[in-house]
Amino acid sequence: RRVSDRIRNADGPTFSVEFFPPRDEADEAILWRSIRELEPLDPAYMSITYGAGGKSRDGTISNIARVATDTTLVPMAHLTAVDHSVAELRNVIGHFAAVGVHNILALRGDPPGDPMGEWIPHPDGLTYAEELVRLIRELGDFCVGVSAFPYGHPRSADLDTDTHYLVRKLRAGADFAIAQLFFEAEDFLRLRDRVAAAGCDAFMLPGIMPLTTPRTLRKTIELSGATPPRWLLERLEPLADDPKAFRAEGLDVVTELCQRLLAEGVPELHFYTFNRSKATRELVDRLGLRSRSEEPPLALAGA
Ligand code: FAD
Repeated sequence: RRVSDRIRNADGPTFSVEFFPPRDEADEAILWRSIRELEPLDPAYMSITYGAGGKSRDGTISNIARVATDTTLVPMAHLTAVDHSVAELRNVIGHFAAVGVHNILALRGDPPGDPMGEWIPHPDGLTYAEELVRLIRELGDFCVGVSAFPYGHPRSADLDTDTHYLVRKLRAGADFAIAQLFFEAEDFLRLRDRVAAAGCDAFMLPGIMPLTTPRTLRKTIELSGATPPRWLLERLEPLADDPKAFRAEGLDVVTELCQRLLAEGVPELHFYTFNRSKATRELVDRLGLRSRSEEPPLALAGA
């Protein structure tokens, strides 16, 4: 099942969930508990990020294969070009197809260690995500996603250049883009407008971090690459030492952001889960994104 078809054919806005590969057995148990807790909510898809090293990469590959075979979820594997020859990338992509993973998020990735360090391609590898999109397309009937950056990728000279390469990457054969974290709906909507103005009609999906702790706020600021608006810090920072109050206010902030995005016709919200399910389940419930298959059959509804 293709992610783009799931989104296109949904009878209302939907959501997806992102996990990272577990580091050890205890982590793996937590991951799988969360996957099982989210499965009945029927997300459009679930994805697992692709790490920088061998063990973490094996974790992505084995766990996404297990999602494909042991669950009702639609799996999407992230894949990066970091330290891979084209032959290795072909192998990984072929393996995904063999285990039933037909959705891939194609990324260039960052240099290991320092994300802003010099990008040195593998001597037999790829330099940009656009090339990976082409390679995946060449190898089979995959649904391909790419990343997008509401404030521009940190290496982009300006927003026009950023949009130019994003649109090229989409036109190379991607079906949709998932946006990096951002603070206000308008930041995402401006990205969507830039892509549409360039004549590109690929789905643009917002990435959403449930702001449950000061750590998730710090992570959001770091990943966004932008300065947070004052109103956000004023709402959350005073609550930094009160975990319950922070979580309540953080989830209110995110609910308001999501409501605004849905009102603007966004078809799908992509939640970063940190391998936990509770905050995502709460948000999905508040936003009314529960899948129809969760509702009781009509005959039972009045019982
Ligand atoms: P690219 O699209 O290749 O762009 C990189 C830079 O090069 C940009 O500045 C772009 O404008 C420029 N550029 C692109 N094409 C050209 C060209 N032809 N000529 C000149 N310049 C060009 N990282 C991981 O390691 N694992 C993950 O699982 C992962 N998942 C992610 C999921 C999402 C939704 C997002 C937003 C990011 C994710 N990342 C992940 C991080 C990502 O790998 C980094 O942000 C990386 O720096 C950029 O990757 P990209 O695919 O956007 O690169």
